[in-house]
Amino acid sequence: MSKLIKSIRGMHDVLPDDSHRWQTFEDTIRRLMSSYGYKEIRMPLVESTDLFCRSIGEVTDIVEKEMYTFEDRNGDRLSLRPEGTASCVRAGIQHGLLHNQVQRLWYNGPMFRHERPQKGRYRQFHQFGAEVYGIDTPDIDAELILIGARLWQQLGLKGIRLEINTLGSNQARLEYKQVLVDYLGQHHEVLDDDSKRRLLSNPLRVLDSKNPAMKEILDNAPALMDYLDDESRQQFAKLTARLDATGIEYTLNPRLVRGLDYYCKTVFEWVTDELGAQGTICAGGRYDGLVEQLGGKATPAIGFALGIERILALLESQQEQQLDSIDIYLLLLGDACEVRGLQLAEAIREKYPDLKMITHCGGGSFKSQMKKADKSGARIALILADDELKNEQVTLKFLREKKEQTTVSFDNLLTSIAAFT
Ligand code: ATP
Ligand code: MG
Repeated sequence: MSKLIKSIRGMHDVLPDDSHRWQTFEDTIRRLMSSYGYKEIRMPLVESTDLFCRSIGEVTDIVEKEMYTFEDRNGDRLSLRPEGTASCVRAGIQHGLLHNQVQRLWYNGPMFRHERPQKGRYRQFHQFGAEVYGIDTPDIDAELILIGARLWQQLGLKGIRLEINTLGSNQARLEYKQVLVDYLGQHHEVLDDDSKRRLLSNPLRVLDSKNPAMKEILDNAPALMDYLDDESRQQFAKLTARLDATGIEYTLNPRLVRGLDYYCKTVFEWVTDELGAQGTICAGGRYDGLVEQLGGKATPAIGFALGIERILALLESQQEQQLDSIDIYLLLLGDACEVRGLQLAEAIREKYPDLKMITHCGGGSFKSQMKKADKSGARIALILADDELKNEQVTLKFLREKKEQTTVSFDNLLTSIAAFT
């Protein structure tokens, strides 16, 4: 026998009993984004490797060690997208969507990173992202945060904290970088290997370290807040004023720097303590320089991406199990009943497009059809056998409740179904 082929490590199937949770999430967020006037954009899963090197940054975990990169048959270097922002900017520039206009966009789909798979961390995972172009004022920063808060509320999620920080202008960050390098240089013996490497290539990322041995020196590190330029300081104050006014609670986390190179000014993360080490469920920030960096005209930009698997895991742990249940299972016994039953079923579907009804297919005895009806989880079985056909009626049986079974005439079926389901 040949060896069974399995899915790739860290890449998962969504099985039929779980897909309704994905759909609920997707329906909710789609409606929410549309209510704020955002439009969907869909980008390819594969892009030029260069796009990610030039946007995310050469010395980031993603580009250094997590990308799925390959040569295609033409010898072009391509990568599976590890995130959506770079593609969104690429598409925006390519189609002339960004210059001198405002765009409020969202996307949804799989991303690929070759990380060590563990709970909440996969190699194919799904992000929902929102990106806004053409607005440089913090009112839009506040809007994106409010959308997050409203999403948690609509999904019924509890215990999600907001952490915010500002990375300042490029100039301010450059000055701060030197101060940080000097400080960390004085504590070189405490730094782990990763941090020593980052100190040379991307010193801000050292602040992002989760290594407890370095906590103390990082806690005592000079804060970027103290080196801010006036404009960033004012913008940040305006943002917090808007969060205060709308009742959004937040904590200021001066060590929040985000893992990607393109961020500036406002950065934020929504975090939960209920998912262990993988506690960030949504992360975002401003990236005013990226459009120009990728060859477009300078355009202010801000966005967030949320990790759908992490949100669904949280939903599952916080909510009672919800079933994706069937309303009706239609049993059809014999060829004549199958033909008449199909007509009835189509008439029912015409009138009740949201009703979930399985029409039995594949024949079989009453007993075997009833077994399938029960297993389907349906609340009601409608039975059409020879006797019923002769009398122009169906038998209606409640599968989950203690209610008497009854018969309904073909003529009344369409009107009475609403009362039963
Ligand atoms: P982390 O610090 O957890 O690695 P990140 O900073 O790399 O996250 P982003 O690139 O900002 O994450 O992606 C936004 C969100 O996407 C994260 O907050 C998280 O919820 C989700 N995410 C990122 N990487 C993964 C992954 N490998 N598996 C599942 N979800 C992920
Ligand atoms: Mg990561």
